[in-house]
Amino acid sequence: MGQSLIFDVKRYAINDGPGIRLTIFFKGCPLRCRWCHNPESISSRAQKLYSLVRCIGCGACIDACPQQACRLNSDGIATDDASCQSCGICAAACPSRATEISGQLYSQRELLRIIEKEIPFFDQSGGGVTFSGGEPLLHTPLLLDLLAACGERQIHRVVDTSGYGRPEDLLAVAEQTELFLFDLKLMDAVRHKKFTGVENRTILENLHSLAAIGAQIEIRVPLIGGVNDDRQNLQQLARFVAQLPGRQPKVSLLPFHDVAENKFLKLGQRYDTAAMLTPNDEQLQLAVAIISAQGLDVSVGG
Ligand code: SF4
Ligand code: SF4
Repeated sequence: MGQSLIFDVKRYAINDGPGIRLTIFFKGCPLRCRWCHNPESISSRAQKLYSLVRCIGCGACIDACPQQACRLNSDGIATDDASCQSCGICAAACPSRATEISGQLYSQRELLRIIEKEIPFFDQSGGGVTFSGGEPLLHTPLLLDLLAACGERQIHRVVDTSGYGRPEDLLAVAEQTELFLFDLKLMDAVRHKKFTGVENRTILENLHSLAAIGAQIEIRVPLIGGVNDDRQNLQQLARFVAQLPGRQPKVSLLPFHDVAENKFLKLGQRYDTAAMLTPNDEQLQLAVAIISAQGLDVSVGG
């Protein structure tokens, strides 16, 4: 049985579908959204994270690293990415948890064991499991195994996707999924590519295909001031959603917040938020009005 790289398993999640949920975050994403709140989700490889504020400069990681990939400089511990094997030996040696590894391999059996412990909470709250990421469709074999096992246990299943994946994978997943949380960001292909790294054609076609087979879908729009909150984008998006076949999806607006800087720093990356603004109440209400004008049920928040 295969394994997949998971970067987080979140218990008691209340914004990832109905009820109390267990959310499993797969590592690896084909998109590079500039506003990403989980930059550690993007790479398909395990990664070393380092926190300068936690580091006490003891040098234990330098001594422990079998690759001699760590060294101390004026900014704390620097890691030579070319030599680092993401083995985690430095993290185990670190007395202050300044170093950690993002990404751990799990099998279906291991994840199922974690899921089964949560069944009482699912039963009490009408919750279940949400498969998120990263992009869960990059892990379709394990995802399908997990969906089937959850189905046998009558556990409610949600898949949170960018929609950027192989149509045959998405449709296979849809056979075993009660609800999709489907991200829509920008309707203009050029702007979509500029801000996410990929064009949106595959995403829009996949969304249409899902709707055509009657899948239950909630559209999630990360609303970023200066990027996708303009009237033209929101009108196009609302029209596209309103004209989908099948049951009409609900739309949720998720306002952008500049909260990921620390995560980017831990990865040794820069978080460029220069062109991205948090929408204020007035802008949120305007976005709600533009979308609801197409007859859609729209709300703010997950
Ligand atoms: S993860 Fe392993 S190879 Fe990379 S710096 Fe730490 S000990 Fe060295
Ligand atoms: S072992 Fe941890 S606390 Fe010590 S220098 Fe390395 S990262 Fe810093």
